[in-house]
Amino acid sequence: MPARTIDLHTHSSVSDGTERPADLVASAVRAGLGVVALTDHDSTAGWSEASRAVAGTGLTLVPGMELSTRLGFMSVHVLGYLFDPAHPGLVAETARTREARLHRAERIVERIAADYDLTWDDVLAQSGAGSTLGRPHIADALVAKGYAPDRSAAFAGILHWRAGYYEPHEAPTPLDGVRLIRAAGGVPVIAHPATHGRDPNISERSFLELVDAGLLGVEVRHRENTAAGKARLLELAHRHDLVVTGSSDYHGEGKPNRLGENSTDPAQFARIVEAATGSSPVQG
Ligand code: AMP
Ligand code: FE
Ligand code: FE
Ligand code: ZN
Repeated sequence: MPARTIDLHTHSSVSDGTERPADLVASAVRAGLGVVALTDHDSTAGWSEASRAVAGTGLTLVPGMELSTRLGFMSVHVLGYLFDPAHPGLVAETARTREARLHRAERIVERIAADYDLTWDDVLAQSGAGSTLGRPHIADALVAKGYAPDRSAAFAGILHWRAGYYEPHEAPTPLDGVRLIRAAGGVPVIAHPATHGRDPNISERSFLELVDAGLLGVEVRHRENTAAGKARLLELAHRHDLVVTGSSDYHGEGKPNRLGENSTDPAQFARIVEAATGSSPVQG
């Protein structure tokens, strides 16, 4: 791994990672990263702990978030970097999404409970107070009850939409998400947009709309993007002068993804920092 590896996508226990923000910072230092972005789902609650933890480590923290958005049945994740965490519009929208996620998780658990011995308390036992709830916490509860060997197996089985318990949650559209991140002085980058074959998960038309609204980059090097999809994303990035990123999408022990397994070139990272006006990287 190069000396100053830049990893712009990680999750702590503030959402569905398994490490507290301070422990994630310690893991990033151990992994030899130079820059790490904390991008919990729909929450900035880990920023202050992570900022304190980088002090004296030499690691640079990029405060960020992975915003849930929805286009019909398609869930689209938009990474936001270096925005103002107090921006009222963004604060309100993420609070709404976390609330919608909570009720949606309760409904999924109700349905699963008709067929399996699983309660809402089992799920709460797997999540920190106030953390952004999602299927990963239901997965952990299913693992604890012995219905699956690990999170990935739970996702491939009971939590898969084909199993019949799934439902989506309300969230802003990708276009509103990109606009909100920009309005808050942040830099929007679409997360893992090519997980289903050659074409981006959203149509080219929707994609171009996002670019017009201020989408600055695409996460190309991500383990779930397909090879054909990455090639196509690079074409699109070149044509529209977009920043290209690579990241791990680390979730601690919640996913096999390892810190620094994909990374972002320093020149691309510099464009993100330059475009941001909402907050600054925290130099450790
Ligand atoms: P949700 O947003 O509640 O529908 O859950 C989606 C989240 O679950 C994503 O953010 C992923 O981090 C996580 N996830 C999706 N697939 C898997 C998997 N196969 N193994 C572990 N975590 C997963
Ligand atoms: Fe996640
Ligand atoms: Fe994601
Ligand atoms: Zn993620």
